[in-house]
Amino acid sequence: MDATTLAASTRLFKRARTPRTLASLSVKEIETLIYPVSFYRHKARNVKAACQMLVDEFGGRVPQTMDELVRLPGVGRKTANLVLILAFKSQQNICVDIHVHRIANRLGWVSTRTPEETEQALYAVTERRWWPYINLYLVTWGQNVCRPVYPKCDACVLKPLCPQRGVTRVSKTALSRAGRNAGMTA
Ligand code: SF4
Repeated sequence: MDATTLAASTRLFKRARTPRTLASLSVKEIETLIYPVSFYRHKARNVKAACQMLVDEFGGRVPQTMDELVRLPGVGRKTANLVLILAFKSQQNICVDIHVHRIANRLGWVSTRTPEETEQALYAVTERRWWPYINLYLVTWGQNVCRPVYPKCDACVLKPLCPQRGVTRVSKTALSRAGRNAGMTA
């Protein structure tokens, strides 16, 4: 979770700790609490609607199945997988966001066009024991090294193993830093 999202969710849960309380807030108040997260207006509507559905259809509790979770407004497979992994300690799910999708393709683990395709492909090519952790590792890697644009390939420890599929431009800063480090150790 990035710092902006963490701060927003902390404010939100300080104001309302249960689905019932959250559903009773106005969309405007939720917007104010979660601003400046991206698409905060859209997300505020979904938060209220999802909490209302939790109250109306699930007894105020978060459901534990993929089919039920993706019925909640604003919840797709990515979020549902994350809930199953983090809240319910599932060992059967892989949470694929845009970082996981991009890096799994660059590394040549999969050859897919969408995160949904990547999720299914990863179940086939990765060991089950890593499934709950793939998101944590690859998101962190994607934010710091294998970034969306200008990945730091020349300073990346995986470079000897990586076919760099689809990478056209890499960070020159990483290149010069790696060169300086090599000079210092020569
Ligand atoms: S070598 Fe480049 S594309 Fe491959 S994992 Fe490292 S940063 Fe990503």
